[in-house]
Amino acid sequence: MKSITGKTTVCGVMGKPIEHTLSPLIHHTIAAFTKADLAYVPFLVEDSQVEAALKGAHALNIRGLNVTMPHKKAVMAHCVALDPLASQVDAVNTLVWTPEGYKGYNTDAMGLRRALQHQGIAYQGKNIAILGSGGASYATVVSVMNGAKSIHVFNRTKAKAEALKEHFQGKCPVPIEVYGLNEGARLPIDVVIQTTGVGMGELMGQIPEGSLALLEQAQAAVDLIYNPSETVFLKEALHKGIQVMNGFDMLFYQAIIAYELMHHVTLGEHLIEAIYRALLERIG
Ligand code: NAP
Repeated sequence: MKSITGKTTVCGVMGKPIEHTLSPLIHHTIAAFTKADLAYVPFLVEDSQVEAALKGAHALNIRGLNVTMPHKKAVMAHCVALDPLASQVDAVNTLVWTPEGYKGYNTDAMGLRRALQHQGIAYQGKNIAILGSGGASYATVVSVMNGAKSIHVFNRTKAKAEALKEHFQGKCPVPIEVYGLNEGARLPIDVVIQTTGVGMGELMGQIPEGSLALLEQAQAAVDLIYNPSETVFLKEALHKGIQVMNGFDMLFYQAIIAYELMHHVTLGEHLIEAIYRALLERIG
């Protein structure tokens, strides 16, 4: 990072914990490629301080903030406006400074859609299984709902999958079926998207229950986890010889979209590809 001056644009990411975030590296890499003068700072914010953090950040003219766990829902109440996609996903991961306050966006859904395109994984006309029904699952539904044939959500706590279905009632143009983890899908599944935390951190080396059966007839498997780059779920999919994608591309594209929103710029495809290669070498 270049030295900070009075002209430096300040942005950041807020969450708890925040020490392992890759967002500063990604945003500073984009800034280096675009020759932008940016300082992008991680902020540890307690649950009780979300409103105060946004008021302070706005007063300090912090131009954009990414929001990560556990604050993606809590910030919504403190936005002066919400982008329709953020309302659809029911979470905000990007805040853009406006004179009145922050406008909330969600770039996870479009980030995943661009990642699928980038890797040539087709969801159009396919039966999609989604493992999990947390925040990442909602973003995944929004990613694929315009084009998929049907969506099948599997979750350990079935009531949460039912709540997801309820949230998308009247908003999702294709049928959503919900299941417990070990219930079989009512249709043969073409693409399986793994959105639970099983396979990373304390759950490293594990695979979500029921996922092997779902992979049986699938042509592609996606895991939103990017560390490790190959979860047991993806190893099993590779073993079956089907197409796979980890969470790196989604992480990358959600950051690209967030950067474009925060700085009111559009990055060209060649530039995006060069930034992608540079980051893949470091963290992919
Ligand atoms: P979340 O809201 O906390 O949801 C967690 C989900 O995982 C829930 O469906 C939960 O099921 C399930 N789960 C947790 N432990 C489980 C276990 N032992 N067995 C079965 N299911 C289990 O989290 P999130 O925000 O959706 O994030 C989930 C994952 O997506 C994380 O790994 C995160 O890193 C990844 N993610 C990646 C990106 C990216 O850019 N690549 C973006 C967002 C998220 P219950 O409902 O039963 O608790």
